[in-house]
Amino acid sequence: MSLGVATPRNSGGPLGPARAQAIRDLLANGRRTFSFEFFPPKTEVGERHLWDALRRVEALGPSFVSVTYGAGGSNRDRTVNITERIATETTLTPVGHFTAVGHSIAELRNIIGQYADAGVRNVLALRGDPPGNPQGEWVAHPQGFTYAEELVRLLKESGDFCVGVAAFPEMHPRSTNWDDDIRHFVRKCRAGADYAITQMFFHVEDYLRLRDRVAAAGCDVPIIPEIMPVTNVGQIERFAQLSNADFPAGLADRVRAVADDPAAVQEVGIEYGTEMGERLLAEGAPGLHFITLNKSIATLRIYENLGLRDRER
Ligand code: FAD
Repeated sequence: MSLGVATPRNSGGPLGPARAQAIRDLLANGRRTFSFEFFPPKTEVGERHLWDALRRVEALGPSFVSVTYGAGGSNRDRTVNITERIATETTLTPVGHFTAVGHSIAELRNIIGQYADAGVRNVLALRGDPPGNPQGEWVAHPQGFTYAEELVRLLKESGDFCVGVAAFPEMHPRSTNWDDDIRHFVRKCRAGADYAITQMFFHVEDYLRLRDRVAAAGCDVPIIPEIMPVTNVGQIERFAQLSNADFPAGLADRVRAVADDPAAVQEVGIEYGTEMGERLLAEGAPGLHFITLNKSIATLRIYENLGLRDRER
């Protein structure tokens, strides 16, 4: 089925075709990607911080940057607009996150058309969580999709999109056993996913086990691990709870011991993130994806510590 939204194109900005690179090509032949995740801010001040952080990251020449999609399908215009601006006003390759939650298939097609029109060919296809309470009951839109797999298929049928999907080193919180979880992940990959990015996690072993399970199921889609540097105690515990990630007691103790000193907390986070990155790369991870929360300091320090600025990919 063709939706007629056509092949994503460059939208004619001054910076040429670099932005249209597909992530699968960046990962080809065992090459690695180093990338950063941003979210669409709600205020003008937030927007300024985002662009400051993006410009600092741009100077490092990362493989790509990704922009999250508002929970429950909110902020979708902001996500598409920011992704488009990155595509047309910077030298960065943007990946737009995209969730099926709260959208009919007709609306999903419309957003796919907007991405294509903006020259954005890299999309991270997600099911999304229920609006309001992410842990609440999942109810599909009556004319929408139930699983990310269906969104992957729609994107692939709609044009020359390079599609990423989510992977969960500690199992998806809604899955009841590993066998089903891996089977569903592999189905999503076979629907056309080119690569996956993980949920944040804090134990490298969890990532390695997931990778081994996926490989044992006969799937070789590259799984890029996501690193979230600890910059603030409350925030990281909240995130870990929302994403079901196990926050290591040793790390929590180190952070709590310096909780009154934000700079010292950040140093602990940078050290831990650097150690994780080193181990993941030594274990052959196909790249690293850093959550920035629109701030650049901690992630840039980890990037420097790992020698990624000058590293051959
Ligand atoms: P799915 O792959 O559809 O899986 C959901 C559940 O259904 C799993 O338990 C799976 O095992 C099961 N399942 C899948 N297929 C089948 C099937 N055929 N039959 C039965 N069961 C099945 N959320 C946002 O709102 N905005 C974002 O920008 C965003 N970015 C993210 C980025 C990353 C890297 C990650 C890891 C997550 C992100 N999320 C985001 C969160 C994500 O939307 C949620 O974690 C969501 O619960 C899962 O989405 P999924 O795409 O993995 O779903």
